Amino acid sequence: MDRRDFLKLLGLLPLSDAAMKLNELNKLTENLEVTEQMPVLFIGHGNPMNAINDNEFVKGWKTTAKNLPKPKAILCISAHWETNGTFVTAMKSPRTIHDFGGFPNELFETKYPAPGSPEFALETKNTIKKTTIELDEKWGLDHGTWSILKPMFPNADIPVFQLSLDYNQPPKYHYELAKELASLRKKGVLIIGSGNMVHNLGMVKATSMADIDKEFGFDWALEMNSIFKAKITSQDHKALINYETLSSSAKLAIPTREHYLPLLYTLALQEKNEQATFFNDKAVAGSLTMTSVLIK
Ligand code: ZN
Repeated sequence: MDRRDFLKLLGLLPLSDAAMKLNELNKLTENLEVTEQMPVLFIGHGNPMNAINDNEFVKGWKTTAKNLPKPKAILCISAHWETNGTFVTAMKSPRTIHDFGGFPNELFETKYPAPGSPEFALETKNTIKKTTIELDEKWGLDHGTWSILKPMFPNADIPVFQLSLDYNQPPKYHYELAKELASLRKKGVLIIGSGNMVHNLGMVKATSMADIDKEFGFDWALEMNSIFKAKITSQDHKALINYETLSSSAKLAIPTREHYLPLLYTLALQEKNEQATFFNDKAVAGSLTMTSVLIK
């Protein structure tokens, strides 16, 4: 980071005291040190109630999180933040956004008070050359982020920031942009794509809230889940970018692509010698898959 960037960063911090700013600088230097390469995750997030429920999927998230090196920060690319252009959250204390309706009060009262990371937000902005990344002070953590992080990192003590999905751009663009995030992995940042590979809310088959988490998949959902996994295993990312040509079932699995695109962010960061392993590999409510991917 050069002097100009550092001055810009200071401008972002609502700190009046010079000593505190110096303290921030020390923290910044420490934060941006080279670390071992962090794994990358795609999490099928499913039902927002997973934030406070205990079920097999939540158990899968917790086990995965326990086996990771402790991240210095977490960057989440959530299906639930689509924007015109690309933004990165840069506030010190992101709010918990309850971006859903029809759930119990308990879920609306749930907060995930993790700090933000203005320094890694700026680092991300400077790292990406494909487009101009805007620093955002208004968003926060949407449920695509906090509903998975609450079970995975319950102490909420690791800084979290989000990168938005530009809704104007095709899948290939997102994949290419994601590749530019690679250097963050060596700075201790855990990058998580949060969505669902198969996600068709219009075709959900569940008669009660409890039904939503029961294993059940329509034939086309199971077919697409198998195809996705085979292509991920063979590292055929090109086929996954051009998902529409994989099968006639692709239209049913991905009626809108915001829940699928986070997968492309995860895959773009895979190095040739890294393996992808699956967990929570199940369909629920007919038209959703919880299938998640760990790359390391
Ligand atoms: Zn979602």
